[in-house]
Amino acid sequence: MNHKKSSEAFGKAKKFIPGGVNSPARAFKSVNQTPLFIDKASGSRVTDIDGNEYIDYIGSWGPMILGHSHPEVLRAVENANRNGQSFGAPTLIETEMAELISEMVPGVEMVRMVNSGTEATMSALRLARGYTGRDLVVKFEGCYHGHCDSFLIKAGSGALTLGSPDSPGVTQGSAKDTLIAKFNDISSVQEIFQEKGSEIAAVILEPVAGNMGVVKPEARFLTALRELCTQNGAVLIFDEVMCGFRVSKGGAQELYNIIPDLSAFGKVIGGGMPVGAFGGKKEIMEHLAPLGTVYQAGTLAGNPIAMAAGYTTLKILNEDKGVYEKLEEKSSALEQGLRENLDKAGVPGVVNRAGSMLTLFFTGLQEVSTHSHAVSSDTGRFADYYNKCLREGIYFPPSQFEALFVSLAHSDEDISYTIDKSYEALKSL
Ligand SMILES: *Cc1c(COP(=O)(O)O)cnc(C)c1O
Repeated sequence: MNHKKSSEAFGKAKKFIPGGVNSPARAFKSVNQTPLFIDKASGSRVTDIDGNEYIDYIGSWGPMILGHSHPEVLRAVENANRNGQSFGAPTLIETEMAELISEMVPGVEMVRMVNSGTEATMSALRLARGYTGRDLVVKFEGCYHGHCDSFLIKAGSGALTLGSPDSPGVTQGSAKDTLIAKFNDISSVQEIFQEKGSEIAAVILEPVAGNMGVVKPEARFLTALRELCTQNGAVLIFDEVMCGFRVSKGGAQELYNIIPDLSAFGKVIGGGMPVGAFGGKKEIMEHLAPLGTVYQAGTLAGNPIAMAAGYTTLKILNEDKGVYEKLEEKSSALEQGLRENLDKAGVPGVVNRAGSMLTLFFTGLQEVSTHSHAVSSDTGRFADYYNKCLREGIYFPPSQFEALFVSLAHSDEDISYTIDKSYEALKSL
């Protein structure tokens, strides 16, 4: 496979864009590669500027659940575009969108649109703080909530030591208000609540984690979190930016039947356009300006073209018969194939899947249910496997700690080709 044009394009991009990319994961650094520049995408396929075609499991990092360039989404965007790009005034589709989200997601009674997942979690946290009059937030090691200061914090030596910034530029002031607990370890959260329960505004988590690779919650972990928050008057925030509309129609909260106080959305909700949203209990959402005193705003929020793409995507997911069954069939076939491959090739590994999100961890452990399990993976081995699959035309997310995404456009042939080539790659490691 020839990547000459992509290499040249990357060389030029690096002169004008830091690192040549507008988001770090795109740089392919963790698989010792340079990025492919994409020309176009349709269905399950992306084509790079050298004319190579790949089966795409990145799906724009999650949004493209219907596949690329879905005809109904294209039509809706074209129609909206003809009427103008943005008015900074209410439009009918914003209410339809809010109504549809409230209908699909059990914990949402009211919703506000924003432009990214980062904005959604950031605003949900401010609202939780404004509502409770408290400052502290508890987050979990390995969960990603966008790049807002409060969430770019990692644990110190113990759960109760103050968090330390993950990035220069995040102040100690922000870090001291973020406490870190361990995913799937309720005692780590109980300890924090025992010490600081009356100061905690919110607990935020990815209810199905995707940003340390896919790690599923134990049902009793979510139940216990819900109880702890209720007892202590803290707001439980589910960050469903990745798993929302993907692990089931109503997200993780529907799948596990746990109702958070607030939820954050992004990715699928925009159908490929820059969209995020946060929503939840009416009683809390009514504290937002202009109704309440917690300020939050956006010049392009609820943008009509973005709403057209997002609304059409959600409507198809909500109304088309058997959509989630089909996604489950395809994803489960891939899961089983990859697991059999590991056995046949004699390579140690664990395949975790939640709905159409999946990660193959190169670890000798029997299961991956915590952050420390996930980071035990052999990233060198992953990179080797990754590059072998890429050469065969399979475009996986370029990191051991990301989820791959199956879409409705992946055919049985796509899946079985992927399984075959994955086996050859594993065998030659
Ligand atoms: C992607 C992601 C975000 C950030 O969304 P952006 O649109 O990239 O700002 C937040 N939370 C989770 C769980 C995500 O996967």
